[in-house]
Amino acid sequence: MTTTTSTGVLAAYAGLGAHRLVEADPLLADLLEREHARQNETLAMVAASSSADPSVLACAGASISNVTTEGYPGARYHAGCELVDEVERLAVERARALFGARYANVQPHSGSTANQIVLCTLMKPGDTLLGMELSAGGHLTHGSPASVSGRFFHAVGYGTDADGRLDYAQVAELARTHRPKVIVCGASAYPRTVDFARFRRIADEVGAFLLADISHIAGLVAAGLHPSPVDHAHATTTSTYKQLYGPRGGLILLGRDADLPLPGTRRTLAQAIAHGTFPFLQGTPDLGAVAAKARAFDLAAQPEFRALAQRVVSGARELAEAFAGLGHTLVTGGTDNHMVLLDVGRRGLTGAIAESALADCGIVVNRNRIPGDPHGPRITSGVRFGTNTLALRGMGPAELRRCAALVDRVLTALVPRDEAGFALDPAVRSEVRGEVARLCREFPLPHHTP
Ligand SMILES: *Cc1c(COP(=O)(O)O)cnc(C)c1O
Repeated sequence: MTTTTSTGVLAAYAGLGAHRLVEADPLLADLLEREHARQNETLAMVAASSSADPSVLACAGASISNVTTEGYPGARYHAGCELVDEVERLAVERARALFGARYANVQPHSGSTANQIVLCTLMKPGDTLLGMELSAGGHLTHGSPASVSGRFFHAVGYGTDADGRLDYAQVAELARTHRPKVIVCGASAYPRTVDFARFRRIADEVGAFLLADISHIAGLVAAGLHPSPVDHAHATTTSTYKQLYGPRGGLILLGRDADLPLPGTRRTLAQAIAHGTFPFLQGTPDLGAVAAKARAFDLAAQPEFRALAQRVVSGARELAEAFAGLGHTLVTGGTDNHMVLLDVGRRGLTGAIAESALADCGIVVNRNRIPGDPHGPRITSGVRFGTNTLALRGMGPAELRRCAALVDRVLTALVPRDEAGFALDPAVRSEVRGEVARLCREFPLPHHTP
């Protein structure tokens, strides 16, 4: 490992780049500056979002991205990789330490790609996959016909019970009937704890591999606030930009099964995942993103991160209780993680209406289907809230109650016109906008304004 003191060239180079952009391309620079301001001036409550530390973004934008290479540290197909090898090894070591994993692959370009890599490594086209239905809270890559996962594989979906909770008995029954090669657990819209050990028992009973996708809850897992799947699942995947507050990108982790020989191959599971990433599905890794992941994993290993994750969870609970107290209906009645799913259909609204009315007032959320939803994904009957960014801003229970009251103010004042159209009293809009602006000024995004 090289050790050195900084020459300051990174900061100077980033500054030079920004100056050149402003001079040469004012149109684009203006858009980027306005987007920068927007992030600080609105309340981001999209459950899949967060905000990366500027040191993470500095890595992603550094000149290391210029390096073209293929392969892995110590086994590249190009010369000149001594330093990028050290960066990638650092990212791998930090990922392994953070999650207690035996093997980590930091090259996947996204969470979706990480899932494709695992599925294509463990299955052949036409093999059976059992994953959570998209409409029940699963992800596109868990077997939806809109994604390759549902086109190249024979996908069977499991759902939730009437309360919106995972129905493990149904999962077990579908597994026995369909004998899947891979079972996928983990979700995009599920506010409750996932019992990974139970999923593994079901997988073992039918001889399936278990893939745990923790894209939404990776931060809670890293902080020890949600049980870890790493030793239960054969492979664990995550996006790095959601609850890990990292760069765009994906990560694959293997636990106790890392050295399992993969039937029908001469590879272990870890070797097969490495091969599945490169050369099977990807070429050159994005080394800026790899450096940024290394930075984010280090931040996530700090005591401050655990405090942040605790604020994420307690904030979501506060938000759920406040919504319930204001008479709103919550899918599963509450939350165990960072997410709250509101059923707005009961109030004669749609998710599309709620999303655009809230956006109009500076509160950024996303519409989401809920169990038994009569509407499709463009309209929906639900709204998904998350607390990652609010917690990062330092907001605690009192502020989350203020946020719930603001959302309630908008939703109760809304007059729907049709599935997506509505009217909102201008007085309510300006009152809520004013309060959002005050909250954002009181709790600015850390290090956002130089
Ligand atoms: C967001 C998400 C993904 C996809 O991640 P990208 O990095 O956006 O491709 C995969 N799985 C789940 C459960 C997700 O929520």
